[in-house]
Amino acid sequence: MKIKVSRDILKANDLIAQDVRSMLDSARVFAVNLLGSPGAGKTTLLEATIRALKTDLRIAVVEGDVQTAIDGERVEKLGVPVVQINTLGGCHLSAPMVSDAIGEFDLTETDLLFIENVGNLVCTATFGLGEDMKVTLLSVPEGDDKVQKYPTIFANSRVLVITKTDLLPHMEFDVERVEREARALNPEIQIVRLSARTGEGVGDWIELLRAHVADS
Ligand code: MG
Ligand code: ZN
Repeated sequence: MKIKVSRDILKANDLIAQDVRSMLDSARVFAVNLLGSPGAGKTTLLEATIRALKTDLRIAVVEGDVQTAIDGERVEKLGVPVVQINTLGGCHLSAPMVSDAIGEFDLTETDLLFIENVGNLVCTATFGLGEDMKVTLLSVPEGDDKVQKYPTIFANSRVLVITKTDLLPHMEFDVERVEREARALNPEIQIVRLSARTGEGVGDWIELLRAHVADS
């Protein structure tokens, strides 16, 4: 039965995710699974975040993409250790991929690990990677109906980052609607609005992230 097969795959993934979780815990690493559609601004936000935090925290990055090392190369320029995973058609990262990738880092020399997932709002929501929290980006050009259309990822995320807010004057995008629908699904969700282009709101995101790392 197809449903059973799919469940077994998720179960096998979750077992490895638990191993990743305990590796991260014993090395005291805080891990963020960064989610969002292609073009939501994940890598751009990651670059801004690394610039803001790299003098205080030891950061490592796992970059997930279907093809290419374009994003890995962008991040590597900032002087942090990066492992690029190419899924070669796979639409999400799995815990075994992450387990393999973090073997390349000295986790005892790492405070904060970012895992930039493949751009996708569907199955990335259910494949846990052993992270401390999922952060989902939704960019203004994607439209304000995405919380309703892809509820699982918003229900499972600790933080929603609404990106490219500098485009709000040019788009029909009801920010209040997005926030209301996200909170209806997930009353605990934290929401930040920002534009990495203008810098507006980026400081709020950095504060929020720092608080999570400090609490861990
Ligand atoms: Mg990217
Ligand atoms: Zn997938």
